[in-house]
Amino acid sequence: MQYRRLGRTGLQLSALSFGAWVTFGRQVGRSEARELLALAWDRGINFFDNAETYNHGDAERLMGDVLADLRFPRDSYCVSSKVYFGAAEKPRPTQRGLSRKHVIEACNQALERLRVGHLDLYFCHRPDPETPIEETVAAMDTLIRQGKVLYWGTSEWPATAIHEAHRIAQAMHMYAPVVEQPQYNLLHRERVEHEYAPLYASYGMGTTIWSPLASGLLSGKYSQGIPDGSRLTQPGYEWLRDLVLGEGGERVEKIKHLPAIAAEVGATPAQLAIAWCLANPNVSTVLLGASRKEQLEQNLGVLELLPRFDLALKERIEHALA
Ligand code: NDP
Repeated sequence: MQYRRLGRTGLQLSALSFGAWVTFGRQVGRSEARELLALAWDRGINFFDNAETYNHGDAERLMGDVLADLRFPRDSYCVSSKVYFGAAEKPRPTQRGLSRKHVIEACNQALERLRVGHLDLYFCHRPDPETPIEETVAAMDTLIRQGKVLYWGTSEWPATAIHEAHRIAQAMHMYAPVVEQPQYNLLHRERVEHEYAPLYASYGMGTTIWSPLASGLLSGKYSQGIPDGSRLTQPGYEWLRDLVLGEGGERVEKIKHLPAIAAEVGATPAQLAIAWCLANPNVSTVLLGASRKEQLEQNLGVLELLPRFDLALKERIEHALA
């Protein structure tokens, strides 16, 4: 495994990390979750990502149970949660958003579900236009001073809001966000490559990037239709189908040359897509998702491809997508 500093912090995260969205508490039960987390940790993954909203708290409960069961030393891994959407199916106004009340209560609930004494990373899952940024920065600062959170960050905040959070934190002598969690993959890159560019140099922010395979699309699995049991067949995720496949399947069409390029370098399309993300020096860690052990096993194989992932290969991929 490779380890990278989370931006300018001293925290060394594994370049590949593992997240629970959709899968834990829905596609994946206790024994599969145990296998996945054990494999991840054995192979050097040291960051497990979660959120209050993932399967309404069940993803955190399952991860917490399995982590306790596996007895990894607490100082050998990092675990995160995210606040904003709420854990309840129909959250009441105080059960969602980034108010001081919800940020603090959601943290306490995540600690209980995950069965840990502190969160290593705690993210604001989206910006909350109904809460002043000062209030959220102060709530995060409180949690850090209480030792319940070690580092805080944002997820999919506009760069302007992140600048504002830094300005406030500096003026009030409070802890500032050190990490952003954006979507980043071959088909979704504007924010990480352009909008956030000034944040890396100005504030030393790191990134924990999500959906490196665009929900599995970049593995090539959807080229022959939608396989049973895959993410796009999950009840309640119908909204994701059009986003992932694109109108009339245009995104499936766009990536049709990737499998041939992958085969030429002895890799799978998923490994090629993940290697492309890792090649960006502003990516601190690539969050993998997997509903089966074989997928995680395959995706971890990207580490063997990395030494061969050079500029010429990158250009071939760009050309194939153009
Ligand atoms: P990916 O884009 O990598 O999608 C993962 C899914 O793709 C798997 O669950 C599986 O779905 C399929 N898959 C993975 N590997 C393979 C393979 N080798 N071959 C075929 N299919 C494969 O990542 P996620 O979208 O899951 O994002 C990763 C993590 O990022 C999440 O778990 C979560 O922690 C975080 N995240 C954060 C968000 C945020 O707003 N901050 C939003 C979304 C995710 P299946 O088998 O079901 O088809």
